Amino acid sequence: MDIRTLLKNAGFAEGFLLPVAPYTNWTRHRNDGVFHPNTAPLSDDPRETYPWANAVLICVYPYTPYDDETLVASYYPASNRAYHAMKRLLGMLREQGIRAERAETPYREQLAAYGIGSRMDNQLLFLEPYGTYFNLQGAMLALPEPVRYDASREPKEVCDHCGLCRTVCFGAIEGDYAFDWTRCVHTYMEGDSIPKDAMQWLPSLLGCMRCQAICPKNPQKTVPIPEEIKNTLDPVAVLKGNRREAETLIGKNLAAPKRLLRQAIVLAANRGRTDALPYLLRLRETDGERFGVELDYAISLLQNQ
Ligand code: SF4
Ligand code: SF4
Repeated sequence: MDIRTLLKNAGFAEGFLLPVAPYTNWTRHRNDGVFHPNTAPLSDDPRETYPWANAVLICVYPYTPYDDETLVASYYPASNRAYHAMKRLLGMLREQGIRAERAETPYREQLAAYGIGSRMDNQLLFLEPYGTYFNLQGAMLALPEPVRYDASREPKEVCDHCGLCRTVCFGAIEGDYAFDWTRCVHTYMEGDSIPKDAMQWLPSLLGCMRCQAICPKNPQKTVPIPEEIKNTLDPVAVLKGNRREAETLIGKNLAAPKRLLRQAIVLAANRGRTDALPYLLRLRETDGERFGVELDYAISLLQNQ
């Protein structure tokens, strides 16, 4: 069975098989300080990290945004489903005798370097017909023959720098592709305390995707937010302690307390959820050291309502 059939059977819409090459542009941006420091362990040249590989496979998992993303963006449950799709695909590839490992590489940059998709001011990649609504998963492969990429898509300029994404952002988007990672709310998912101005601004759980929801270049179709998501990721439900249920929806990584619980504390307060107070007070007893900054903010806001 060919790789394209396998990746579709695993749940992806399409995939790109590319030669293994360094990502010079991305390295330059990283050296300029554009990206979060957690990119530091990524090698500039995948040939050093994966000397046995002769191809990189980048798979596209599209999703449709929810009609209401004020609780959580549909990106996060979709990224969990995409992760499992890649797990299935790796199993299928190995059954075919192909060595395959999940790739820790900058997928968006690799696609952009081959003219696949277009960079946008919000730092996302635009790919027809999905707009920026897709998750990428990558794998390094050892194929019997090296691959050549024959361009099937023409690179084009899509972002017209209209500035709309900038107006809804906390301060990361600077226009003309410039970006300050320290002002993107995704930065506050690494376990450090959230600064006060970011807590006051935090609009939804797990960061936000406002910059793509407002982009006029994106498809406008939405789907109703599933009840299961609304119930499980309700900030007070998270505070009550439902980690296992949350893990099934968004994966262990995002459901880790340093991300989900920390943000639920803040979001409950920003939404005026006084029913959260008993759980916040209890958390101060058990986890006051870890979430002290967020708990102080939330309790004081709710007690002064
Ligand atoms: S909202 Fe405007 S500036 Fe921002 S990514 Fe979309 S087209 Fe570009
Ligand atoms: S995810 Fe939110 S904070 Fe980050 S760039 Fe987009 S709008 Fe700004």
